[in-house]
Amino acid sequence: MSNAAKIKVLLSLCFLIIFTSAIFHSPIEPTDLLTQMKTRDFVIEFPKWKNFIEPFYAFTFYVLTLERAFYAPALISWTGWILFLVLIYCIAKKKTIIQTLVRLFYGLLLFASLLAWSVFVPLDGPKLIKSPRYIAVDFHSHSRYSHDNAATELSNYKFHISAGYDYFFITEHQNTNSYFHFSPTQRKRIFEGVQMQVVEGVSVLLLSPKEFDAADYSNLSITEIIPKAHENNMLVIMPHWWKWRKFSFADLKEMGIDGFEIYNCGYRNFDEKTRESLIEFCKENNLLMTASTDWHGWGYMTDAWTVFNQTSILSADGETFVFGEPQIIIYRQKQSGTLARFIFEPLSAYYYYIKNVNMVDAFSFTAWFAAGLILIFFGIAKFIFKHIPLILSIVFTISAFYYLAIFVAVSDVNNTLPFIVIPALFAMAALWIIIWRLYDKTL
Ligand SMILES: [Zn+2]
Repeated sequence: MSNAAKIKVLLSLCFLIIFTSAIFHSPIEPTDLLTQMKTRDFVIEFPKWKNFIEPFYAFTFYVLTLERAFYAPALISWTGWILFLVLIYCIAKKKTIIQTLVRLFYGLLLFASLLAWSVFVPLDGPKLIKSPRYIAVDFHSHSRYSHDNAATELSNYKFHISAGYDYFFITEHQNTNSYFHFSPTQRKRIFEGVQMQVVEGVSVLLLSPKEFDAADYSNLSITEIIPKAHENNMLVIMPHWWKWRKFSFADLKEMGIDGFEIYNCGYRNFDEKTRESLIEFCKENNLLMTASTDWHGWGYMTDAWTVFNQTSILSADGETFVFGEPQIIIYRQKQSGTLARFIFEPLSAYYYYIKNVNMVDAFSFTAWFAAGLILIFFGIAKFIFKHIPLILSIVFTISAFYYLAIFVAVSDVNNTLPFIVIPALFAMAALWIIIWRLYDKTL
């Protein structure tokens, strides 16, 4: 291709991005999940530095807010497209079979590394901005003191502050060990809780206005744990009921449950019809409704906030919680779940991104896109692709050691770090070294 032709392609594609951003423009507005009303009392703010890494930020936001039921089809589609495009490139460039295989492997590993970036690099997500007469509370979050969490309690604290929460509950699985690892200043915003499994196999959130020992609540049935928690001024909330669908709403109410999660960022797969009936049930029976992050350190973004029109969550004597009517603020767009969407998943992801952004974001995205094309057109990308594997191998090795260091303090409870996170990171480091050698030999 001649240089003039390259510049024409470049300019047309840049124009296409700006054009699609203008015609699809329909930004997400914060909505109250309970009334389905848009709300002007709340504004969503993104970090100022977002534009400096626009495409990476966009990809991270896409990955971290994707509905759980979409994970598998989306992953298959992305994998298929990457293999297809690399294959087309290799055929066009008349690469040998070995060269092609190395490049297919390279493409997949780069995609896996991008996913790892989304999940492990603590980028600040959308932040809820509101007037001081409101408080935002997260009722459900974990740290490395839970068996399935991948981040420190300090990361948890920073996440909640950067997302705009005033208070949050730390609800580890089966223990309360992390609470005293927060500083006294941090604890002014944190309440102690636990996600306790009951003998029937489901779990409940116990939320306490004062310190307690989770061990006192282990091995109880649901009909034993609720009255016992109430004796100690705790609230008992049913988290992600739709994960188990055990016990009817009415049965749980009969047992004394104080409220339900109606949205959970870890389990965004609650069908709208059942959610509506749960909301209706809670309203009729005066039960607390919450949207929780269920933060596990896997990705650092939320799109839901439980907000109250009050300034404190404790009664005047500080003995019990008092919650008024909540608003559940959701920052999400309805996305299609059709086969057509998943066949063209990378394009669908682009569509949902571009319709939501403002002009500055769109220009930043275009600039990044143009820079990438220039690197490819003028042969600089080749040089970069030669060195990326070694750099990524070093980055993954350092990350693995970081996670090893944060695991030491929680070696008795945590099994995600030693059996999934750390081996996976070391494996990525090793795979990149292999690619580094192979790619160099097959240039
Ligand atoms: Zn949880």
